[in-house]
Amino acid sequence: MTATEVPGAQATFESLDPRTGDVVGTHPVHDATAVELAVARAVEAAQWWAGLGFAERGRRLGEWRKALVRRLDDIARVVSDETGKPFDDARLELVLAIDHLGWAAKHAEKVLGKRKVSSGLLMANQAATLRYAPIGVVGVIGPWNYPVFTPMGSIAYALAAGNAVVFKPSELTPGVGTALADSLAEIVDGHPLLQVITGFGETGAALCRAKGVGKIAFTGSTATGKRVMAACAETLTPVLIECGGKDPLIVDADADLEAAADATVWGGMSNAGQTCVGVERVYVVENVADRFIAKVVRKAEALRAGSAGDFGPMTMASQSDIVRGHVEDALAKGGRAVVGGEASLHPPFIDPVVIVEVPEDSTAVTEETFGPLLVVNRVPDVDEAVRRANATGYGLGATVFSKKRGEEIAARLRCGMVAINGVISFAGIPALPFGGVGDSGFGRIHGEDGLREFTRPQAVARQKFALPIAVTSFKRTSRGMNALLGLVRLRHGR
Ligand code: NDP
Repeated sequence: MTATEVPGAQATFESLDPRTGDVVGTHPVHDATAVELAVARAVEAAQWWAGLGFAERGRRLGEWRKALVRRLDDIARVVSDETGKPFDDARLELVLAIDHLGWAAKHAEKVLGKRKVSSGLLMANQAATLRYAPIGVVGVIGPWNYPVFTPMGSIAYALAAGNAVVFKPSELTPGVGTALADSLAEIVDGHPLLQVITGFGETGAALCRAKGVGKIAFTGSTATGKRVMAACAETLTPVLIECGGKDPLIVDADADLEAAADATVWGGMSNAGQTCVGVERVYVVENVADRFIAKVVRKAEALRAGSAGDFGPMTMASQSDIVRGHVEDALAKGGRAVVGGEASLHPPFIDPVVIVEVPEDSTAVTEETFGPLLVVNRVPDVDEAVRRANATGYGLGATVFSKKRGEEIAARLRCGMVAINGVISFAGIPALPFGGVGDSGFGRIHGEDGLREFTRPQAVARQKFALPIAVTSFKRTSRGMNALLGLVRLRHGR
């Protein structure tokens, strides 16, 4: 048994290539006992890892980074086989994840290490220090759409912060999780620092309940996120919840329409639209709408889904029904298909669909589609675009195309991340925190916030000398209290 293998599973399940239905791999179904065993092993690994300190952890994570670069094509092949996405899309995912790992390892000590803070006038006799200590064991539950990039946003930052990780990949992408853990095993002297537990929802639920888990980092749908949070409530285990979105793209009157159309089509169609921060709704200002829509149509029409297409299949077969439902609803409510339509659906593949003039109460506007469907609606002005963009329970990402007012519009959007004159660009910048509000969840991966997310702040006040006036002692006198009150009046009362 290797350090990444979790013992105790009897049943197995198969992962399939969604393009062909071919079996890609066979994996154990880990039950609650196996999950508890993995967490117990992780508790010990976490102590060893935390004891190494920032410099040695950083060195080893640097080795992991190099190992991932060496194995990039091999792991990308597993990603492509289990999700059906084009090989280069899989490689891009790895490139971004490796860059994040490098940033997390490099910045962990600066962000989390012990530092002095001012002790203030009233407590001038104290030395105040702050450090961000590892939590211990972090349970990571990931989705299938970006099976490397998304969980690595938690795994890399949790490890850099000094934790061990037990990772439950989606049942659709267990081979990717295993490949990731294998690539680290040799660098950590056989310690079970990153273990993978495979199986279905019950395996993930067992991880939420397992004794010894200090935090759960969940990425997936809002419905499952609520179940995860409810399970974690039983043990008061803190959670980070990264859920879906219904991200808008706003096109202002002065936008570079060619660039906006390119971003719209990439943001909506790449990965077959199965991107949590993908573009799903477009609000374009009326006086540039015709020209913008013509460009979107031209670009989207040129794309095809397929095994050797511009993008792959629906990774999860049942997603095709959701996409079909949204297309039908948009058309039934009066939307006009300008690219594709119901005939674009030939599961597991769906060719691009662009529908304009879709009423805002259509499910194509209100619910996450997670497929290659773009809704493009005209608005009289940017104010109306902002109002509609914000009129959803989700609040993950957004995109703005505007030459002059990009930042001003961005500041009015209720969401966690905004790309201006680009698309999804924030996800590739390791220093920027990633996460949403409302139905899109809470907590952050990436950046300084992403490192702190996997720690507990520890505040220490060390007395350097005793004050002549003791106010936190039963020896306290009214003269002493009066002196203190005088000081406060001087400092804060004027
Ligand atoms: P799911 O919510 O179906 O599953 C997510 C993970 O949770 C899977 O590993 C799943 O296991 C597991 N799980 C299922 N039931 C439970 C349970 N009761 N307790 C604990 N874990 C459980 O999401 P998808 O995999 O379908 O991913 C797509 C969703 O993820 C979309 O909504 C997308 O927007 C969102 N997403 C959000 C991102 C973000 O950063 N905000 C990034 C990427 C995706 P199993 O697969 O075995 O059922």
